[in-house]
Amino acid sequence: MTQIIDGKEIAARMRHEIAEDAARLKSGGTTPGLAVVLVGEDPASRVYVSMKEKACAEAGIFSDEHKLPAQTSQADLLALIERLNRDERIDGILVQLPLPDHIDESKVLEAISPHKDVDGFHPYNVGRLVTGNPLFQPCTPYGVMKMLEYTGIDLSGKEVVVVGRSNIVGKPVALMCLAKHATVTLCHSRTRDLPQVVGRADVLIAAVGRAEMIRGEWLKEGSVVIDVGVNRVGEKKLVGDVDFEGAKGRASAITPVPGGVGPMTITMLLYNTVESAKRRGERR
Ligand code: NDP
Repeated sequence: MTQIIDGKEIAARMRHEIAEDAARLKSGGTTPGLAVVLVGEDPASRVYVSMKEKACAEAGIFSDEHKLPAQTSQADLLALIERLNRDERIDGILVQLPLPDHIDESKVLEAISPHKDVDGFHPYNVGRLVTGNPLFQPCTPYGVMKMLEYTGIDLSGKEVVVVGRSNIVGKPVALMCLAKHATVTLCHSRTRDLPQVVGRADVLIAAVGRAEMIRGEWLKEGSVVIDVGVNRVGEKKLVGDVDFEGAKGRASAITPVPGGVGPMTITMLLYNTVESAKRRGERR
């Protein structure tokens, strides 16, 4: 029987624990605070930002919203970030991407204090992840690791194959698995004979962005499949990067899409914010 790894359930359990932590901090006089900065009118970004604000409210995190017009100058945005860096009520700063074309994204991300970088994209935090001493870890890959942990899957000595090498998912999740003592193979569009490499995996993590590209018959019998991909097929249907029905016959455990990794991303943003609030005193 293949276990379906229920991301909604794991996320709900974690959010309950995060809310308890936030309440404890609040009763000690520290209300965790997240600043959310949105520049422009991109409809998908507006939806993400409102989901984040709602999740903050439910967890007892103070959310400080900054919705700026699309023509906001880079200098004004950098000045806002500087103010938020100094604001003691704020434990995390999130700048919703993408930014309008006239703004240099890396300049903005690097202006965020690494000690409030709850997205984990600042080069300082990337460096700490690489050297095995992480401070903030990026939310989607960190969510993948929490799912494995909550499901009781130990990575030590296992063959992990990651498909996709983006800075936001593939590369960081590979480093996180390495830190858990897995033997990690990182694949991408130039990888030769992907089915053969995937077939080696005890744990497969797919983050490609191509609907059902990884076929069930490629998988090793009994492997664990974490599907980060979210691909729209037709008007309403969402599917992952892995052929779920085919994979179900071979995998011992698999995440569904939707309802797998998706709900973990915002959960980890809340988690990082509350962890940051616990360190508020050390930032002074
Ligand atoms: P990117 O487009 O940045 O990266 C995709 C990666 O897949 C690249 O490294 C690319 O290789 C590789 N790739 C593309 N085609 C192939 C192929 N035929 N064979 C092997 N590798 C291939 O994507 P992201 O990492 O940003 O996102 C990946 C997926 O995860 C998307 O579906 C996205 O929607 C989803 N996602 C889900 C989140 C969630 O919250 N659940 C959050 C973030 C992303 P190369 O580098 O050589 O071009």
